[in-house]
Amino acid sequence: MSYHIKPRKAKKLHTKFIFVSGGVISSVGKGITAASIAMLLESRGYRVAPVKCDAYLNIDAGTIRPQEHGEVFVTKDGVETDQDVGNYERFMNTELSSANYVTNGQIYQEIIRKERNFEYEGEDVEVALHVPEEIIRRCELAAKERNADFVIVEVGGTVGEYQNILFIEANRIMKYRDGRDVVHIHVGYLPTPPAIGEMKSKPVQNSVRQLIASGIQPDFLIGRAEKPLDDRRKETLAWTCNIPVENIISGPNVDTIYRVPLSYDQQKLTDKLLEKFGLKSKKNDLTKWKNLLGKITRINSSKKEVNIAVVGKYYETGAYKLADVYISVVESIKHASWHNGVKANLHWISSIDVERQGAKKVLSGFDGIVVPGGFGSRGTEGMIETIQFARENKVPYLGLCYGMQMATIEFARHVAGLQKANTTEVDAKTPNPVIHIMPDQEKKLLNREYGATMRLGGWDCVIVRGTKTEKAYLGMGLIKKTGKAKISERHRHRYEFNNEYREVLEKSGLVIAGTTPDGRLVEIIELKDHPFFVGSQFHPEFQSHPLSPHPLFNGFVQAAAKALKA
Ligand code: GLN
Repeated sequence: MSYHIKPRKAKKLHTKFIFVSGGVISSVGKGITAASIAMLLESRGYRVAPVKCDAYLNIDAGTIRPQEHGEVFVTKDGVETDQDVGNYERFMNTELSSANYVTNGQIYQEIIRKERNFEYEGEDVEVALHVPEEIIRRCELAAKERNADFVIVEVGGTVGEYQNILFIEANRIMKYRDGRDVVHIHVGYLPTPPAIGEMKSKPVQNSVRQLIASGIQPDFLIGRAEKPLDDRRKETLAWTCNIPVENIISGPNVDTIYRVPLSYDQQKLTDKLLEKFGLKSKKNDLTKWKNLLGKITRINSSKKEVNIAVVGKYYETGAYKLADVYISVVESIKHASWHNGVKANLHWISSIDVERQGAKKVLSGFDGIVVPGGFGSRGTEGMIETIQFARENKVPYLGLCYGMQMATIEFARHVAGLQKANTTEVDAKTPNPVIHIMPDQEKKLLNREYGATMRLGGWDCVIVRGTKTEKAYLGMGLIKKTGKAKISERHRHRYEFNNEYREVLEKSGLVIAGTTPDGRLVEIIELKDHPFFVGSQFHPEFQSHPLSPHPLFNGFVQAAAKALKA
């Protein structure tokens, strides 16, 4: 028999825990809410560790199909996480790590490892208790890692699913052990069906009821809707959900996600949260954030716009088109455009459409073109055609990872005359493998070691002086005019620039603008005689923040805006 086991006794922790769950629909904005609260509490002088809990059994997001998962965000320490970790980094203007991302797969893997090591000393290992206990241990670990006053635990998925129930259970056990230190915020969606024209609260009532049935009485409710909630909606939600009306917060649509923290703060969410924990603000500083939002308002009402095409291969989801896979790219373009005082209109273009209709038809008229990362052969010819169009028509171009590899292939084929040039990822037998697999990677693939085995995370790169890349990094103050121009950028790839072609491509005019410190791996390529044509083997989009845009995106948008003036 097994149910003699009890939750461990509460340790006296100084850390407070805030759980954030979502209801009614997925993509309701839990991630933005968690990120906003994290940054708001930091603005009051507290240290925060956010944790994204994903219910899937994958150890990480690295092996999940992009269309299914959305973006894989890579942390500095090389973990392939969920896009919400990217939101946390952008809102908090910080760098996070593996400690901030938990999946059911990781939880089970650790429990099974402990069980095999006899670390449970003969106990019956149970889903109902050992899994929540392991979740709690991970949340406490995240607190320790950042020496945090608060841990914000975002429960992935939607309330009522079987999948995430043990994260909710972890919340319940923590609250049972030390109720004072645990608060639950539920984010629910209130639809306004066009045929009815009235905002409906019943779906949220039902999702809160589900939470209550799981033993969690939420303390705050955030009503996501097209418009702010009126008093009538708030009152109904208050008494049906058993939540004080002043703890019902509106989460209306806003022009930019970065407006959300200000909206919450104005509704006194930060004050109420601190009050709930019996804490006071140590400071209150949102100046930089408010300035940025003021700037965005001004830019949005001005007519200065750049039209940027993002040509990728992962947009389609059934009959719909979604840019979620490229969320960090999208955000990075916005950060840079605000920095340059222009509004960026983003256009989602499938490289498969370029193949079908031709680059000229699909791409004429844009002020800048980005080809982001990707894997496999589908759509690559469309990317190459896109890049040729950008190069020949002098449209500012930024290539990210696959976008850099494809730019190398395009240049090899159409400038250096290596007509069959390709990456061995697409054509294993190409006579001109200008992009090929890294030797250690080949072995891994032969052994089917796919998980977390790419070249991942932050790696140093040295920028070549006198290049456009140097100018971009100098401009943002990330390198100095003298000494080694060393930067660190995040990677996620198996293939690389083939050094056997370095000389011939350089002779044809390709500029190597950055390499690893030992000079062995090509990290950045660019072109002369072009307003801006840069490709990076790394993903600069993982290090762009609204308050500190990334130099390469900044250089790219600057060039696009300049083209506009000309
Ligand atoms: N598929 C390429 C590689 O593995 C590029 C990866 C990417 O764009 N992230 O090298």
